[in-house]
Amino acid sequence: ATPTALLVGTGRGAQLGILIKGPEILESTRRVDTIVLDKTGTVTTGKMTLIDAIPAQGTERSDLLRLAGALEDASEHPIAQAIAKGASEELDIDLPDVEDFRNTEGKGVSGVVDGHAVLVGRRSLLEEWSIELDPAIAAAQAEAEGHGRTAVLVAWDGRIRGVLVVADRVKPTSAEAIGQFRELGLTPILLTGDNDTVARQIAAEVGIEQVIAEVLPGDKADVISKLQGEGRVVAMAGDGVNDAAALAQADLGLAMGTGTDAAIEASDITLVRGDLRSAADAIRLSRRTLGTIK
Ligand code: ADP
Ligand code: MG
Repeated sequence: ATPTALLVGTGRGAQLGILIKGPEILESTRRVDTIVLDKTGTVTTGKMTLIDAIPAQGTERSDLLRLAGALEDASEHPIAQAIAKGASEELDIDLPDVEDFRNTEGKGVSGVVDGHAVLVGRRSLLEEWSIELDPAIAAAQAEAEGHGRTAVLVAWDGRIRGVLVVADRVKPTSAEAIGQFRELGLTPILLTGDNDTVARQIAAEVGIEQVIAEVLPGDKADVISKLQGEGRVVAMAGDGVNDAAALAQADLGLAMGTGTDAAIEASDITLVRGDLRSAADAIRLSRRTLGTIK
């Protein structure tokens, strides 16, 4: 394609809400055959709400909400913000302060609240601290996950204390976008740090068959390299700090304009409206731009 055609292409992209870093990017866009989609904040809105709090036997609901809410108030994670907000609204109190706050990426958080050593996160985090699940809590977690919800565990002072259920929603545009990817001949794959049950439920809602779940933030880029090693040309769409390395590794990185600066900086294209249909627009645009002008 001539430089002029490429510039016209990128200009047309801007009108469609697709910010392309440079005209040469249209070439890799055109060749993409696989599109890897981050779940939270990309396929889903990422806006979570606390919908249930289930205390373990012997634990008061108000203690569960207060200690977990206070700990999560120190974290930026969408799950954490939902828990902190839900807890402070229900209890109608200012949440206590946290000492020794620690974030274990992709697993959860720990810290000291009101003199208790509190943990909130996934099962593997609790296992690291040798905390055993009780059957009622395990069942409550499994039930919530079966509905596509994220259920995080709460423990303090060495014992399981309850489970908190947060729900995210699929963006109303995601299923249509995925249909368009298929029409363009791309294979969609859902990639997430969340667990397999939740990931499969969300995937089914939007029409994705292939799911790669329980991937730690540091391993997302390796998943992309592996797919490239199979000879695929891979686009990756993501929004989070934890997606940045994978976005950079992909043949085409697509950042949600609604996402973090780290994701936008690591990407080739920004989808200004955070709408995955714009990714299909970008691919169509590149094929048209590079297809018609030799
Ligand atoms: P994603 O890839 O979907 O954006 P993350 O890699 O950020 O998700 O997190 C993976 C999982 O780790 C979450 O689904 C949750 O179970 C757990 N987790 C991470 N951070 C927190 C937190 N602050 N509080 C509770 N759970 C957390
Ligand atoms: Mg995300």
